[in-house]
Amino acid sequence: MSTATEHRTFDSVNPASGAVVGTHPLHDAEAVRAAVESAGEAAVWWAGLGFDGRRRRLLDFKAVLTQNLTRVAALIGEETGKPIGDATLETVLAITHLDWAARNAPKVLGRRRVPTGLIGINLAATLEYLPLGVVGVIGPWNYPLFTPMGSIAYALAAGNAVVFKPSELTPGVGVLLAELFAESVPERKVLQVVTGLGETGAALAADPGIRKIAFTGSTATAKRVMAACAANLTPIVAECGGKDALIVDEDADLAAAADAAVWGAMSNSGQTCVGVERVYVLDRVYDEFLREVTDRALAVRSGEDYGPITMPAQADVIRRHVGDALAKGGKAVVGGVDSVRPPYADPVVLTDVPEESSAVREETFGPTITVSRVATLEEALRKSNAVAYGLGGTVFSGNVRRSMELARAMLTGMTAINSVISFAGVPALPFGGVGESGFGRIHGADGLREFARPKAISRQRFAIPGMNLTSFGRKPADLERLVKMVTFLHGRRKS
Ligand code: NDP
Repeated sequence: MSTATEHRTFDSVNPASGAVVGTHPLHDAEAVRAAVESAGEAAVWWAGLGFDGRRRRLLDFKAVLTQNLTRVAALIGEETGKPIGDATLETVLAITHLDWAARNAPKVLGRRRVPTGLIGINLAATLEYLPLGVVGVIGPWNYPLFTPMGSIAYALAAGNAVVFKPSELTPGVGVLLAELFAESVPERKVLQVVTGLGETGAALAADPGIRKIAFTGSTATAKRVMAACAANLTPIVAECGGKDALIVDEDADLAAAADAAVWGAMSNSGQTCVGVERVYVLDRVYDEFLREVTDRALAVRSGEDYGPITMPAQADVIRRHVGDALAKGGKAVVGGVDSVRPPYADPVVLTDVPEESSAVREETFGPTITVSRVATLEEALRKSNAVAYGLGGTVFSGNVRRSMELARAMLTGMTAINSVISFAGVPALPFGGVGESGFGRIHGADGLREFARPKAISRQRFAIPGMNLTSFGRKPADLERLVKMVTFLHGRRKS
């Protein structure tokens, strides 16, 4: 791509060391336009390959990505500062999703016959899910490969071309992903990357050639992106933040629950949209659970077990939430306001935090957790559901029926039982939230359909004499026969 502004660049920086990792072009609206336009041509070619051709190439892409696993993980580590083990796990998860999307697209989206009902007995009806064209993906920095791959793999498998705008904090991962894709699909620009700051993403959302935007990031930015999409009536799938709760039942394995709570809250420095931010524990096991959490949190080391705060401005948010919790009467049993010492933040465990404080209601995105005592599971559920977000959640219980009931009653898109975040690793499960956490789904069959348009076709196989209903030649007797038939089919009450 060549544009007038290509000489303008920005750096991506390792947040732990401050070292420059890479320099990338600041693509403006004109450059975005050029990318979307060439993606439009590529989309026609890619759709024309059909399921088999795309599947073969996407599985090749998966192989190339797997062969470059170490290189990709190293770059994720450099751009986010996260430990190499976490970056490796992220890459493996992205690979499994790519594999699932490639293999399952034909079954989920392919043409199938559907029943026509007695009134449509002379029809043959088919349903299939066709590509949209060019999909714009706007990705975040916390999981710069895994998260956008949840849209990119599914959009590609559904037959679309993709223009991906990675976060300005992690552009290199996006650029490398597109390079590896081009190794397996060299013919056309089916996956392109545009780099830049927020304005580049805004230009992508506003581009008239984009048929859908897949956005991951904050709720506030999702609203801005939606407003830009409104100009062209471009649909959007929005994966925003969360304030996920973990409920601990009386008969839960407390050591396992504490381990999950601490890892769910602190790993990746808490910068996980489905990270654990709040815990509600039944009174009888509260003290023991808190002891288990405290011991574990004290042993976790920032800079070793997890990396730095990737986005510098986040330090103020974490500090504000911890400060607000303490000012409103909460206690810090591990850490405190001083735990935030950029670029790192040490673990913070808060108790007795009033439900109206920002540490309970707003997304903290830091290695902090609130632990609250509740009298009943109903209270735990009511408090879990009392925030504007509704992304994920966790239940620890020894009772399968009760844990399933709680999971289903959580006002979220996903819940893990006796494990944490496990739903994100199951490619067949849809991922997404409700309320301020956004709408639409990535992953799974729903994630494939999110990037396709249902195409319904009805074909008349033969004419039924005396049932010429959609014609000005219709006779009163035709209608009489229809009413008789409908009365026979639908006119009887069941009770
Ligand atoms: P943003 O929502 O601002 O950024 C997400 C993506 O949107 C980035 O690629 C960003 O680009 C892009 N973007 C920014 N402004 C626009 C715009 N006007 N139009 C189109 N795209 C735009 O998140 P932040 O990085 O500022 O993080 C803020 C908070 O969001 C965090 O504290 C956290 O609470 C939440 N968050 C949640 C994530 C999740 O997984 N759900 C992921 C990341 C953040 P650029 O980076 O170049 O500005």
